[in-house]
Order: sequence, then structure tokens, then C-alpha cells
Amino acid sequence: MRSNLAGPRLLLRRLREVMAEPIKAQERLDKIVVLIASNVVAEVCSVYILRADGVLELYATEGLNRDAVHKASLRVGQGLVGLIAAEARPLNLPNARAHPGFAYLPETGEEAYNSFLGVPILRAGRTLGVLVVQNKSHRTYLEDEVEALQTTAMVIAEMVAAGELEAISQKDTGLDLSRPIHAPGIALADGVGLGHVVLHEPRVVVTNLIAEDTEAESARLEAAINRLRLSIDDLLASGEIAATGEHRDVLEAYRMFAYDRGWIRKIEEAIRNGLTAEAAVEKVQSDTRARMLRQTDPYLRERLHDLDDLAHRLIRELMGRQHGSAGDELPQDAIIVARNMGAAELLDYGRDRVRGLVLEEGGATSHITIVSRALGIPMVGQVEDIVSLADAGDAIIIDGEAGEVHLRPAVDVENAYAEKVRFRARRQAQYRRLRNKPSVTKDGAEISLQMNAGLLVDLPHLAEAGAAGVGLFRTELQFMVASSFPRMREQQLQYEQVLDAADGKPVTFRSLDIGGDKVLPYLRSIQEENPAMGWRALRLGLDRPGLLRTQIRALLKAAAGRELKLMFPMVAEVEEFIQARALVEKEIKHLRRHSHETPETIRLGVMVEVPSLLFQMDELMEHVDFISVGSNDLFQFFCAADRGNTRVADRFDTLGVGFLRALQRVVVAANRAHVPVTLCGELAGRPLEAMALIGLGYRDLSMSPASLGPVKAMLRTLDAGRLSARLLPRLEPGHPQTDIRDLLKRFAAETDVAL
Ligand code: PEP
Ligand code: MG
Repeated sequence: MRSNLAGPRLLLRRLREVMAEPIKAQERLDKIVVLIASNVVAEVCSVYILRADGVLELYATEGLNRDAVHKASLRVGQGLVGLIAAEARPLNLPNARAHPGFAYLPETGEEAYNSFLGVPILRAGRTLGVLVVQNKSHRTYLEDEVEALQTTAMVIAEMVAAGELEAISQKDTGLDLSRPIHAPGIALADGVGLGHVVLHEPRVVVTNLIAEDTEAESARLEAAINRLRLSIDDLLASGEIAATGEHRDVLEAYRMFAYDRGWIRKIEEAIRNGLTAEAAVEKVQSDTRARMLRQTDPYLRERLHDLDDLAHRLIRELMGRQHGSAGDELPQDAIIVARNMGAAELLDYGRDRVRGLVLEEGGATSHITIVSRALGIPMVGQVEDIVSLADAGDAIIIDGEAGEVHLRPAVDVENAYAEKVRFRARRQAQYRRLRNKPSVTKDGAEISLQMNAGLLVDLPHLAEAGAAGVGLFRTELQFMVASSFPRMREQQLQYEQVLDAADGKPVTFRSLDIGGDKVLPYLRSIQEENPAMGWRALRLGLDRPGLLRTQIRALLKAAAGRELKLMFPMVAEVEEFIQARALVEKEIKHLRRHSHETPETIRLGVMVEVPSLLFQMDELMEHVDFISVGSNDLFQFFCAADRGNTRVADRFDTLGVGFLRALQRVVVAANRAHVPVTLCGELAGRPLEAMALIGLGYRDLSMSPASLGPVKAMLRTLDAGRLSARLLPRLEPGHPQTDIRDLLKRFAAETDVAL
């Protein structure tokens, strides 16, 4: 069967002429519909554009009643046009009126037409409108006619994206592309930020859509694909994957797609129909995206991300741009939006201009989260599709407290948030005033408040927040943000700088807690079923003592002539600590033998974060100089609830009777043995939880710097003795189980504790 189309390339050439004419947007659209109608030999051609209120408005038509333009409209899902918008795929029907979805719009006068072809107007997989042709005769439109319509739809999509069509609607609702979006996610780092979107992987905007020379475009595509394949093969072969921040399995997926004949054939076809090579890649990707976005299978969605990345690489290859540069025009109020990113990449942006971080992925304990929290950058994760919804420069608000994002917010939302920011600033100012006030409860119990840190950038907080010291220095962060294994000298230098910055205040270093899910990009990781309970932390350190000994030596040298406090993570048996201490002693001997100065005092401790230690408390106390409760891990193992799994992480209450009894057992055993005890998990930083800990007898808490103010405000208004008298009997065996959280809240309300 012969196509009615007078050659798709001819159509595109005409389209290019229309696009180049210096005319108004409405006139241009009117010309486009006439052009298509005559090329497809259709009696009707219409353009519907999706408004922010979810309505598809008729923007231009050839063949239907022109008075209906900007008046006739359909909702998404309503009628055939609404169906195309909802499903983001073409509809090709010889007898439209027989279709169950058919809805008749009397104002358009379309009752005379039988055959119908509609395609979505797509951009980055998002539907922006629908383009339709209709004929009186019953006919099925041919494949190249569908293609031609899709290509025209791309041109219209660019007009929408360029803002050309915004002003000509009769309604002032605006278009879908500028619709405010309220996107839920999970709160990962506290804080509120107002700013503008910076896409971590900037989208390359293809503006040159229509080819002048199809042969040349095919050749460009072939050359670019070859370069792309070579670069992926090279990366896979060179073994430098980690150094470039790539991961092998992702690259394997890229390679699979890069050699996929079906994908390339579709791109070639789009070029044959008159697109430039880059526009052809974008078209095929936009179609694939629209189709795959409806998939709920997480595996397929993951592959979609890979294919997206690959398409972007190919487009950059074609347009001769470098991969993924963030550019230097970072706005003053940048809110970085990414699918995912590494901790080091965040540090590359510099703290000054970054007001927030929004990820499609990211979990509570992912590295990027830890770093974001350390830098005080509000962060929200698990925000579905935010990368394709957001455009660079869009206004955006991130609420790291509630775990949500407002993209292109309405004025009232923006005002509400500006107020929230002012309120938080006032509260912070109050906390700052508390900085030099004693950390003592109303009834005179002294509580030492320390802070958790992991990078040098954290250290200024020590003075700013008035912390008594660093209760937990997570040494693995330095390893996580480095691109290769830090050598002994580098480690030593960092520890020296930490001690210098602490200026005499105590610092408790924790030996490397890597392995499991804390993967170092440059260290081969082994696949484990349960990494949190796998070969991590001290287990790895004792089995591969070279690594741990290097770190211990660096610490000993850094603390020469000063105090060194060092604790070991994930200890499950007293014997493991004894072995770790033996390593320290060996290193001291070694240093002395070579006449190096050693620390003036050395205190070695254990993190209590594996429940088995709860039943070895007295033996443990005989060997350690101090202990520190890692409540994050202790709780996850105590309740068998993965701290990083949002489905179960909050299932059990950290203030449940069982866990409080466990925490009480630790503090009682330590006090009895006169061994100093700290608690350094997230629990310590939440005012109500910190109040419970004080009630249990804890007098030393370590938390993120931002929590110091709220916790201090709480404890200065607390009568610790009275709280203990209320709380402790409730934990006695045989006492009817009470809701302790509720009890604590009531106590706080009755006694005016500032929570
Ligand atoms: C903990 O487990 O409570 C802890 C402080 O250590 P991390 O969060 O680094 O595992
Ligand atoms: Mg831990």
C-alpha cells in the first residue's frame, strides 16, 4: 500500500522553514497543522496542549471548527485524545467512533470523520500534548505517517519547552510543563532550602531537529556509536572503573544496550525520516521512556535509567560535549537534583552555594546521606522521577524535615516556606545563645554533649555548637570520599588536623567501619546476602590486619604527645577487643623501637552495637577504658529491622520497653565498673529520646552538630531525678507494659520540658 505522505523528508523540510519564519507562536502552529494535513492528505489536523490543570486544550486545527480553538478541551483520560495523553502512545484507528474511548466534542464538528491517528507530544518521556489527524474515509495510517506525526510532535514539544505556547492559552492556568509539583520522598538530612534546580547530569538540549542531509546524519550516528562502544569497552577493560566513579554492572548494562540492534535500528529509522542524529536518539529515547515509565517492575525501571544514561552519552557524543560537567554557573541557591550521586561528587560542588540535595534514590545510611548530613545540606531521597520532572533553573523547595519537595511552587507555598526558614533561623539563634551556657539539668546533673563528625569540614561546628568534644569520629568517611586508598601519611595528616582543630577537646576516633554496605569504590567488594551482618568493620580489620595496623599507626603518630582515644566498631565478643588491643600494642612497640614519639595517654574502647555484648558486660568492663553505645546498629540487630530499609526501619519504637531495658543494662554495668559510657547513635540527637537516655542514667551523649541546640534546650529544663523516678519503675519486670513514648511526652508536658 502506498503512503499518502508526500515523503517525510519533504514535510520536515517545510517544517524547518515554518520554524524559521519570524511569526507569532499561534500563527506558526496554524501553519504547522495546515502543513501536516496537506502532507498526510488528511482532512483534519489538530494540536492539543496539556495545561497545568490536567486539561488538554485545542490549540490549533485545520479542518475542525476554528472557533473551537482555545475553547474545546478534554481531560486527560477523556476521549481518544485524553487516552493518548494518559497512555503516552499513538492510537491508529480506521473507525474511531467504534472505539469505546471515543468522546464527541460538538463544538468541533468532528462527527464526519472516521479514521483517526493521534500521537503524544513528548519531551523526556513526559506528555505535553497530543497531535491528531483525521479522515472521512476508513483508512489505517501507515507506519511512516505515524513517524512523521511523531517527529512533528517533537518540534511542537520544543515550542512548549521554549515557553512559546505559554502565553496564548485563553486560561491563565499555565501549561503542564510549568505545573507546580509536590513530590513526596523520605527525609534524609534535616533542614529547609529554597532555591533553583541544578541538574547534576545536565540534560543536553537538542535544538537542531531537522536534518539537511540524511546520509551525513547516518554517518554521524555510526561514528558516534562506534566511539561510544569503544569508550565503554575501554572502561570495562582498563580496570579503572572505580577511579572514574563508574560501576561494572552499570557499564555491562550500557554495553548490552550499545550493541542492541533493535535500539540502533529505531534510531536509524528516525534519521531516514528526516531527523538529525541527535534528535533521532532523543525521539527513540522519549518513546521508550514513555512506554517504560508505566512499568512498575523495579528491574525494568532500573534498566530504563541505564538506557537514559546511554542515550544521553550518545547525544553528548554527537554534540561533542564532555560527560557530566556541572558547569561553573552554579546559582547562589543551588538545589542539586540527581538520580543518585557519590559523596565525593557532592563535595565537588562546594558547600557555599548548595542549599539542598534531591535524589531519586538514596537511603538513610547511604554514604551521600552521611556526607550531606555532615555538611548540613538538607536532603530528600526516593523522589520518584524528579530528574525528568525538573528543568534546570526551576524554582524548588526542599523540606528535609518532612521529606518532601515542591517543584515550581505556588506563591503561597513559597511564602509558607520562607516563614518556616525564618522560624528555624530564630530557633537556631536561640540555640546559639545556649552555646556557652552550662549543660546541666534543672536538678544539677551535668550532661556532657559531644558531637559526631567524620570529615574535616565538620570540625568548625565544635566551637560553633559548643560541643564538649567529638564523641564519634567516623574515620571511614575520609576513605569513602577518596578516589584511592588513603596512604598512611594522608591518614596521619588528617588525624593531626582533626586533633589540631579540636584544640584540646577530646576526640574519640573509631577505627574503619567499612565492608558490608559501606563500599569503598576502589576496594573490591564481595557480594554478601546480609552485608550489615557480614564481613565488615573490625571483622575485616582482624582478618586483614595490614589495613587496620596502618590506620592504628597513623592515629598513634598523629596523637604523638597528646591523648588518643580509639574505639572499635561491631565487636561481638570480648576476645575481638583483646585482639584489637594487641595490634595497638604491637604498633606502639614498633614506633618506640624506631624512636617515634607516642601518645601521652591511650584509651581504647568498644562500641556496644551488637546485642551479644549485652550479655558479656561485666567481662567487657574488665578490659576496656570506655564504651560507646552505637544505638543505630544495636537497635537494628536488637529488633532484626534493617536500619536502611524504609519499610521496617520505623516499625518498632526505639523507646519500647525491651530496648530501653537493654540500654539500661549497659549504663548500669558501666557505672558499676566505673567505666565511662557514651551513646553516639542517632537516638542521642532527638530531644525526647535524649531525655529518656538521661532518665536511664546516661550522662554523656554524642550527636550530629545540628542536634546539640535542641538537646541542650531540653535538658536545661529537665528534672533528671524526677524523670528517673517516673521512668525506671516502668521498666521493672512484672510491671504492666506501658507506652513509654507517651509517658515521656506527658512527663515533659507536665514539667515544662522544652522539647
Ligand atoms: C551506630 O551504629 O549507632 C553508630 C553510631 O555507628 P554508625 O551509624 O556509623 O554505624
Ligand atoms: Mg554502627
